[in-house]
Amino acid sequence: MEDKNFYMVSAEQIQRLLEEAKQVRLQAYAPYSGYQVGAALLTKSGRIYGGCNIENASYGAAICAERVAVVRAIAAGETDFVAMAVVADSPEPGSPCGICRQFLAEFAPELPLIMANLDGKVRKGSLDEYLPYAFNKDYFRDEEAN
Ligand SMILES: [Zn+2]
Repeated sequence: MEDKNFYMVSAEQIQRLLEEAKQVRLQAYAPYSGYQVGAALLTKSGRIYGGCNIENASYGAAICAERVAVVRAIAAGETDFVAMAVVADSPEPGSPCGICRQFLAEFAPELPLIMANLDGKVRKGSLDEYLPYAFNKDYFRDEEAN
């Protein structure tokens, strides 16, 4: 189960993603929580888009590292995602929040996720294992069919 959907991600790509996530984490703007997160998203073109969390004095306006990475990829015209790494300085490997899982599921419901902390603890899994029965366009009633 751990390696579900990882057949298309090489060990070298995973290493690159973890390095990129660790690097971009240093750009995090987290003056309120002090919790810095880095995310790295590999797309089909081979490019990696990094993202860091960005907090705000209006707490609800904050955005997570994972969504920043996705937003950057989408704005560059890329919608085919291969894998994402998330790195945080936490006892357990950084884990995407529910909003980010939903955001990712829109584009890659079975995205391979590599989660890690700074101590090198790594956890791998497929997004559909972390967000089963994700809400998606299939839930909209197709009026044409009725
Ligand atoms: Zn999030």
